[in-house]
Amino acid sequence: MVKGVKIENLWKIFPPNVVALKNINVEIKPGEFYVILGPSGSGKTTLLRIIAGLEVPTKGRVVIGDKIVVDAEKGIFVEPRDRNIGMVFQNWALYPHMTAYDNIAFPLKLKKLPREEIDKKVKEVAEALGIADLLDRKPGHMSGGQQQRVAVARALVKQPDILLLDEPFSNLDARIRVTAREFVKEIQKKLGITTILVTHDQADAFAVGDRVMVLRNGETQQMGSPEELYNEPANVFIANFIGDPPMNIYKLPVNHRILEQLGLSKKYEGKYSELYIGIRPDEAVALKQGDEGHLVGKVAIIEYVGSRRYAKIDLGNGLSIRVLLETKIDHGDLATIRISRLHVFAPNGERLET
Ligand code: ATP
Repeated sequence: MVKGVKIENLWKIFPPNVVALKNINVEIKPGEFYVILGPSGSGKTTLLRIIAGLEVPTKGRVVIGDKIVVDAEKGIFVEPRDRNIGMVFQNWALYPHMTAYDNIAFPLKLKKLPREEIDKKVKEVAEALGIADLLDRKPGHMSGGQQQRVAVARALVKQPDILLLDEPFSNLDARIRVTAREFVKEIQKKLGITTILVTHDQADAFAVGDRVMVLRNGETQQMGSPEELYNEPANVFIANFIGDPPMNIYKLPVNHRILEQLGLSKKYEGKYSELYIGIRPDEAVALKQGDEGHLVGKVAIIEYVGSRRYAKIDLGNGLSIRVLLETKIDHGDLATIRISRLHVFAPNGERLET
């Protein structure tokens, strides 16, 4: 039976008064690939360690399947080894003096399984993860990607109910990172194992996550699918944090010329004195001068990102905007900007309906 994870009213306060987690509530479905995304110090690792049983919450509880594994109020605490969780640490924590085979076999040896059974399980998982030909090698003689697979194999060999991954891609260079994400996602789907991954990298989060929770200073900012987070960021922090190239964001007085041109001044006058507006580079395009659009400016820089071309356009008064460039416009030309979607936020950063 595939198990889910419930986290209820979870708090962690490190003495004397560091609030690492503030009332976290989430229900992770059986078989789901769930990502916890947040900048450094947001509480991601603490949350993962509480699920694993390596840390105790100050308040609240964690339920795996229908078993309470920790409940601070009731004084329930199930030892890490009895939670049936597989964990892959950021640095993979492989034993350098052991071969891949012995690294993967290690958790089974601890359980004192018979030698033949260990051998069968190690070979099965190695086969499934495509590392059968690496079993005789020690970590020092493997690439980063291969070491990561061995670490995942070691976490999976006990057939855990839940797989926890702490920044599993951060030690890999950009090219291998893409392959490693695909690999982890494929294995997760193939085995159908409930997986929780923590990362500070939104590209990692979006590549693998079915759903993503964004944490900041120990507080949940938003939970949803990658599409929901991208299309409807709940506040300015998320808007800033998600999207590459990053969203153009401005805080402007409500009667600012640009807000007037975008038809926002009338709508919000009297309600707010200032607004944040956000325009994604991929949701606005630079067109030739005279074409129909929303704003006008002068092309300052043209840049290539992957196969796309973006123009940074000077809007006057020290403001500039980065937008898609699909027509032939040169550096120094005047351009019209057509915007397909606007994101508007109140002065406190909360998203407003447009
Ligand atoms: P990173 O990406 O840098 O690992 P993170 O999002 O995983 O960061 P945590 O490591 O969970 O964040 O830390 C959350 C907060 O709790 C931070 O302010 C951190 O300094 C604090 N903290 C973590 N562990 C301890 C501890 N053992 N004692 C005191 N404070 C701690």
